[in-house]
Amino acid sequence: MKLKNYSSILGLAFVFTAFFGTFAGAASANLMVRVQLTDYAKQMSQIQAHSLDLAGVNLPLKQVDLLVTDGEAAWLKTNHFNIVLTVATNNKMNPDTRYQNPSKVESTLKQFAAAYPTLTSLKSIGKSIEGRDIWAISLSKDAAKKDPSKPHVFFNAMHHAREVMTSEVGLDIIETLLTRYGKDQTITHWLDAYVIDVIPMFNVDGNNIVWTKDSMWRKNAHGGYGVDVNRNYPFAWNSCNGSSSSKGAQDYHGESAASEPETKVMMNFVKSIHPVFSISYHSYSEIVIYPYGCKGQHTPTKEVVEKIGKELASKLKLDKGTGTYAPGTAPELLYSVDGGDIDWFYSQQVIPYVIEMNSSSQGFQPNYDQWRNKTIQGQRQGWGYLLSRMDGASIFGQVKDQNGNPVENAKLTVKSVNSSFTLDYKVNPNGYFTVILNPGSYEVSVQALGFAAMKQTLVVGNSRLQTALTLKSSRQ
Ligand SMILES: [Zn+2]
Repeated sequence: MKLKNYSSILGLAFVFTAFFGTFAGAASANLMVRVQLTDYAKQMSQIQAHSLDLAGVNLPLKQVDLLVTDGEAAWLKTNHFNIVLTVATNNKMNPDTRYQNPSKVESTLKQFAAAYPTLTSLKSIGKSIEGRDIWAISLSKDAAKKDPSKPHVFFNAMHHAREVMTSEVGLDIIETLLTRYGKDQTITHWLDAYVIDVIPMFNVDGNNIVWTKDSMWRKNAHGGYGVDVNRNYPFAWNSCNGSSSSKGAQDYHGESAASEPETKVMMNFVKSIHPVFSISYHSYSEIVIYPYGCKGQHTPTKEVVEKIGKELASKLKLDKGTGTYAPGTAPELLYSVDGGDIDWFYSQQVIPYVIEMNSSSQGFQPNYDQWRNKTIQGQRQGWGYLLSRMDGASIFGQVKDQNGNPVENAKLTVKSVNSSFTLDYKVNPNGYFTVILNPGSYEVSVQALGFAAMKQTLVVGNSRLQTALTLKSSRQ
């Protein structure tokens, strides 16, 4: 362990305050331990089965950071875990006050909206459990017009309250796009062609707790114990031991699927924008995660999702300066996760990724002067890649009838000729579709009530293929 790493680990010092003790049976985590794993998969599932709070991992070294109580540390030793570092966390550590809080995010967003009125549409998309506004900003040329032909790309940050760097990235996406529109050709193209939606701070109540009571708070503010909103989404909720049923656990999945107001707010928003891609920003571990979260399960379009995920990871440099982020599903990289946002997003036709930014040397509270700018600049390579990928292999267009009117309820079935996958896709409002693919040949069939089914073969190259699909009425 290098000394410089050690000192930044000491910077993780914190205490779970009396707040954490407001429900029966929960002891306060007072240690950060770093464990050297020997059998990664087996020991990770033991860690999960014991509901330990996983802060982050160092995949190349197979080390994991856990926030634990004395009792949990003893359990680790009894079970032959090799603890290579223990840091007492008896003092609450406040994050650098230059990191965001809910009111700073709100005022910054309002300033952007005032400075760039035609490029922005800012709104509160709903309230947290404590009644705070959750803000989303949509960026596009003539944003107020809400042109249904423009595909959306969605970035959200801070499902987990203590991951303070993530909101910096969310705000930087907004600032970079707005300040360079009209100056940078690529960015101008993105805002002309797409709508880019950003939620820079999703878990507003949890972040408030980070600043007022507990700097290591992760969940929402439900009942004083909190629900992990990122285990509360309804797709495969509580299905594969990928979350906890215990209210005290950091990955408590809540009373029922989508029980939390925050979860519902996110779901309604995603349903309203139909994004093509999304990134959910988390910290830390330097990995890119794609669905599905349950062990052994892969999405029907794995070959597309995985290829883009690997490419995305290859754009993101490790904090140490050499090497790039590791891509994979949650069970491939860590362990099973159920009720996570990306699995549900995928069920809504989004190609979604999680980015866990920063290394275990930085932890949850990277030194602001040293890491804030470096991190946001590094992340630009990731979200920029995804926006550029919108112009890559894909089919894009509108389903219309013979009179040129949009067909709203059309369903596309896209069957790969080169390989085995088939993708079912329901068109967006006004019959628009954007289907991201790998280059290759595809049989595309279109079905809609009241119309004769049609089928055509499309050859998709390295750039997006604009496709008009016209249906004939089945009525004679
Ligand atoms: Zn997280």
